[in-house]
Amino acid sequence: MKVHEYQAKEIFGKYGIPIPKGKVAKSVDEVITVSKEVGIPCVIKSQVHVGGRGKAGGIKIAKNDQEVKEYAQKIIGMDIKGLTVKKVLVANAIDIASEAYLGIINDRTAQKTVVMACKEGGVEIEVVAKQNPDAIYKVYADPLVGLLPHKAREVGFFLYDDPKHAFACASITEKLYKLFIELDSSLAEINPLVVTMDGDLIALDAKLNFDDNGLYRHPEVETLRDRESEDVNELLAREQDLSYVSLSGNIGCVVNGAGLAMATMDLVKHFGGEPANFLDIGGSSSPEKVKNALSILLKDQNVKVILFNIFGGITRCDDVANGVLQAKKELNIKQPIVARLTGTNEEKAMEILKEAGLIFAQTMDEGAKKAIELLK
Ligand code: GDP
Ligand code: MG
Repeated sequence: MKVHEYQAKEIFGKYGIPIPKGKVAKSVDEVITVSKEVGIPCVIKSQVHVGGRGKAGGIKIAKNDQEVKEYAQKIIGMDIKGLTVKKVLVANAIDIASEAYLGIINDRTAQKTVVMACKEGGVEIEVVAKQNPDAIYKVYADPLVGLLPHKAREVGFFLYDDPKHAFACASITEKLYKLFIELDSSLAEINPLVVTMDGDLIALDAKLNFDDNGLYRHPEVETLRDRESEDVNELLAREQDLSYVSLSGNIGCVVNGAGLAMATMDLVKHFGGEPANFLDIGGSSSPEKVKNALSILLKDQNVKVILFNIFGGITRCDDVANGVLQAKKELNIKQPIVARLTGTNEEKAMEILKEAGLIFAQTMDEGAKKAIELLK
């Protein structure tokens, strides 16, 4: 789950990470009111779930009342990479001496949490990682002992020569790490971390993502979810107890079990196709759930073929078959459906689906290949 910069900054504040004075606003009038509280010049920042807002014109520094109004009118309602700006953060504008990057993620290969630092701030870290990987300094936190203080200082002294800045940075790094672990964050990023003209360190931008599987432990974080800016289908799926992630391909996949869903996507890719989604209908799938899954899947205009890959264990193939049948009756499905159903009650399932015009496959390979073939 993603949260907006203003929400991430509120959390930063609770953890003692220095942030500019600021407040969220939803209308031009609110921006004007907040600008008086935080002081002018102020920066008006669009709150949308994409990076590079600055370059897209979604961040402006207003030097007087006139500009506050002008920029607020411009930014609220503007479109950034397909998202409409509904809220802005109005913050005290900072005089910047230097910008750096500081971020924390889990490194799956190293099986450790990694702190990354880069002297180039305000740039896209993914680009730096590709073009100049040596510019990124990495420090690993052992899961047993956490991030040791000397490791945090190592980060500080990598970024800054001045010991005052280095120690301030070490302290921010420790706080960011504490937040990352305590809140089950999957990404915690300060880009840029700036040194102000007064010589203080401050988080000018803030990005936090949270592990969906950890959210039940943090109801206070769950309340920050911005339902308006999430993928509506993913939201709908979550409400119906389905795990759905929309992707950019054209083969809609309906699978039971996350592992099998991943394997199915891999196979589709392997044979040259592109999955339109990850969809796990879960362990015990009632016909109703299968129908709901299909109705969510079909909202994606890119889906040209549907591939069912069901391994019947607790899930009964006949339940799935009945769900498909119901869906066919109620949902006006035009796309061909390739089905590989194996395991509990598979014969019954075949019997149910005999007249339904599905294309059957014996194995996963065959299913994936047939689905791709149908696209041609
Ligand atoms: P992003 O483009 O979405 O990553 O948004 P950021 O919050 O990182 O802002 C982009 C850039 O705008 C920063 O790297 C800064 O150079 C600039 N910026 C943002 N806030 C301020 C501010 O308060 N003062 C000044 N001078 N520049 C700012
Ligand atoms: Mg940024």
